[in-house]
Amino acid sequence: MSIAENLIEIRKSIPQNVKLIAVSKTQPVEIIQEAYDEGQRVFGENKPQELRDKYELMQKDIEWHMIGHLQTNKVKYIAPFVSLIHSVDSLKLMGEINKEAIKNNRIIDCLIQIDIAHEQTKFGLLEDEAKQILKSQHYIQMKNIRFCGVMGIGSITDDINKTRNEFTNLKSTFLRLKEEFFSKDNCFCEISMGMSSDFSIAIDQGSTMVRIGSSIFGERNYLK
Ligand SMILES: *Cc1c(COP(=O)(O)O)cnc(C)c1O
Repeated sequence: MSIAENLIEIRKSIPQNVKLIAVSKTQPVEIIQEAYDEGQRVFGENKPQELRDKYELMQKDIEWHMIGHLQTNKVKYIAPFVSLIHSVDSLKLMGEINKEAIKNNRIIDCLIQIDIAHEQTKFGLLEDEAKQILKSQHYIQMKNIRFCGVMGIGSITDDINKTRNEFTNLKSTFLRLKEEFFSKDNCFCEISMGMSSDFSIAIDQGSTMVRIGSSIFGERNYLK
């Protein structure tokens, strides 16, 4: 099936109130353009320089989301334009995002990445670590970073119950953080969870944003 057909199929299985982020990492702009021409305006990337290059080459009404692990020395590449950073997982990174946001005279929206899979290869904070950070004076003084919710990556597994549990836990963490730190903050409302293999489960558990790559663009070729 074509990219356009894939998009149409996926949109049918996603409720109106769930945002579809088309994960275009490793895809060239000509391919991303096909999704754009089908009406897609929200794209996710996991490498800062690649994200910046695509931003420069493509239409300016696209919302670009940073979904991959972000090193502090690379925040500068995306700070001028990024719509949402999903992968905030340390106080140090928050400080850097805040600093770059000030330089660019803007507020940068972010999600707190929570470690729900407990796999060695995955990033993210435990709920208690997130709470410690949100309580810290250092964070409280940051005026140019705004948290809009949480993000999590499920385990790679065929065990649907395991995946469902991870997503349920993320929703619970979201609710507790909201109550303790963001109860007056209407903007704190997003739960970014679900990828090609597990987005239906994620939506059932309360996802508000799904990040879908291979089901739209096909398998990625990392060798290119
Ligand atoms: C690559 C990636 C996705 C998309 O994965 P697919 O399986 O291709 O849908 C979603 N989230 C993150 C954080 C990713 O790195």
